[in-house]
Amino acid sequence: MTHIPLSHPDITESEIQAVVDVLRSGRLSIGPRQSRFEELVADRAQRRYGVAVSSGTAGLHMVLQALGIGPGDEVITTPFSFIATANCILYVGAKPVFVDIDPRSLNMDPAKVEAAITRKTKAIIAVEVFGDPTHMDKLVQIAGAHEIPLVEDCCEGLGGTYKGRPIGSFGRVGVFGFYPNKQITTGEGGMIVTDDDQLANACRSLRNQGRPSGDPYDPNSTINTNTAGAWLYHERLGYNYRLSEIAAALGIAQMERLSAMLDARRHVAAMYMNRLMDWEDLILPNIHEDEQRSWFVFVIRLSDIYGQTERDRIITGMRRHEVGCSNYFPCIHLQPFYRAQFGYDKGDFPVAESVSQRTLALPFFNRMDETRVELTVHTLKVMVQREQLLKKPAPGSSAGQHSDTPPASR
Ligand SMILES: *Cc1c(COP(=O)(O)O)cnc(C)c1O
Repeated sequence: MTHIPLSHPDITESEIQAVVDVLRSGRLSIGPRQSRFEELVADRAQRRYGVAVSSGTAGLHMVLQALGIGPGDEVITTPFSFIATANCILYVGAKPVFVDIDPRSLNMDPAKVEAAITRKTKAIIAVEVFGDPTHMDKLVQIAGAHEIPLVEDCCEGLGGTYKGRPIGSFGRVGVFGFYPNKQITTGEGGMIVTDDDQLANACRSLRNQGRPSGDPYDPNSTINTNTAGAWLYHERLGYNYRLSEIAAALGIAQMERLSAMLDARRHVAAMYMNRLMDWEDLILPNIHEDEQRSWFVFVIRLSDIYGQTERDRIITGMRRHEVGCSNYFPCIHLQPFYRAQFGYDKGDFPVAESVSQRTLALPFFNRMDETRVELTVHTLKVMVQREQLLKKPAPGSSAGQHSDTPPASR
């Protein structure tokens, strides 16, 4: 039986060699690879500064802290994302204010964002969920008009563009993530990108135990410390959110292949699109004419004649046939912790809930070949047909004549 994973990192000899070179160099942290990796990602997002960090989550946490957000403040964000998008707001003691999504872009509905702004709103965190950048321009406009910083959680969109602008360039600051299922990986890692030098410096200090943001090893450093150098001098409450040279070397090698990898992902997405286009029961990813999509995952949605029960059964069925499949994403506000802490309940964000009950992610990775796409689509078809059959009354019952469910074979 073929096992088709949901995702698979694309590691070649060049990544392996790059990591081995670091190991031989003796410099395993805070070195030239970190700076080089920062330049490469910042360039790709057309930002002046990159700050490499240990994860996307760590990056989001530090950004909110560097923006001075804390208790009593509100941060507007989406309930339809990975949990880290909202958790970072709680880390700094602020209150997440969720707004419902647009059912096509799956990003926050700009009108609802505007309606949710209060005097306490200190940031808006927008997510290009599944790489979809639609509405980023509108959200930039709203944030600008209200003079509220826009934080771009661009963890799912590295390398994409919208209206000619790269993902990561829309917010006052953006955060990428490099977990192994992302477009590029460093094992664990992330990158803050911005044009704001104060914000970049604050993040550099926060990731490094609150040390001054200059090079702590630089003997000519002008940092005014009262002791022998800046290594044991801490000017603020910081963290260890650094990225190792080993991870940065992996990131450099991945960035050098980014365009080829994005092409490979586009090809896999096209294979899926061609084979699923004619299925009436599916809603396929929506590609805006003004975007160049950077494919993160391939997520489809069952039409609204189906609910969560059917969707979950399909996922279970796919997995039983060793085809990776997942429910990207359950709503954040309905996670047990958020329900308990904030009293959220079903019905609070109906669009996000309706979407999230019917989405499923199919196996998606750079070297996915036609055979695996075929097998995945075939298995999905069997699972969906099974659900269609379950919806139809048993043969012979009179209601069956009027069923609007189309025949299973197409
Ligand atoms: C991956 C991801 C993150 C960060 O994840 P880490 O595992 O901490 O790197 C944050 N937000 C979104 C939307 C993501 O997809």
